Amino acid sequence: MVEISCRAVVMDIEGTTSAARHVYDVLFPYARSHMRAWLIDHQAQPATAAAIDAVASLLGVDRVDLDAVATGLEEWIDADVKAAPLKTLQGLIWEQGYARGELTSHIFDDVPPALRTWRAAGLLLAVYSSGSVTAQRALFANADQGDLNSLIDANFDITTAGPKGEALSYEHIAELLEIPARDLLFLSDVQAELDAASEAGWQTVGILRAGESQATVSQESNVSTFGDLVIQVVC
Ligand SMILES: [Mg+2]
Repeated sequence: MVEISCRAVVMDIEGTTSAARHVYDVLFPYARSHMRAWLIDHQAQPATAAAIDAVASLLGVDRVDLDAVATGLEEWIDADVKAAPLKTLQGLIWEQGYARGELTSHIFDDVPPALRTWRAAGLLLAVYSSGSVTAQRALFANADQGDLNSLIDANFDITTAGPKGEALSYEHIAELLEIPARDLLFLSDVQAELDAASEAGWQTVGILRAGESQATVSQESNVSTFGDLVIQVVC
């Protein structure tokens, strides 16, 4: 059991609210297998067109060469490259996958009751993930436990906040939330992210779930479920 006093809780998704294996075994392969068709079918749509421009520029290929763009994106997925245009496209593809009933979501069972308790106590709740805001909201909307987006006050990704391993990103989120860093709590399964938040003056609690072998939490302040975290609201 860990006790914390804060005004807002910002949480990571993969390995924290959701199983990493769901991301790697279900979400990434789905986006990879639908990427080529998505680019062809949606190349005139503004969000996809902007992503194609950005990918082509990063790869140094012609933006009309959709084959080269798609191949580059597939390679990024395989290498888990956290590039903003890739994250944008994955979010759009997943959103369609959920709408078609082809994709499942995953949120650990201890998460929804904890979010309800914290929200009822007056805490502000936010999600910060490398996955796009579109992808985050689609994942929370399609949880087995129901649509959980009503429990989330704000969403941040690498486009709106910056990379998760940099202190500047957490300073930026604190500014956007208009809450002093000391009153913010970050939850993650990755020590480098917790260290970056800590460097920005945030409080941090590591998430070390059973079976989540990718977790790198080494700090003393950690829990294995959200239910082990007792939060007092600072006014
Ligand atoms: Mg994580």
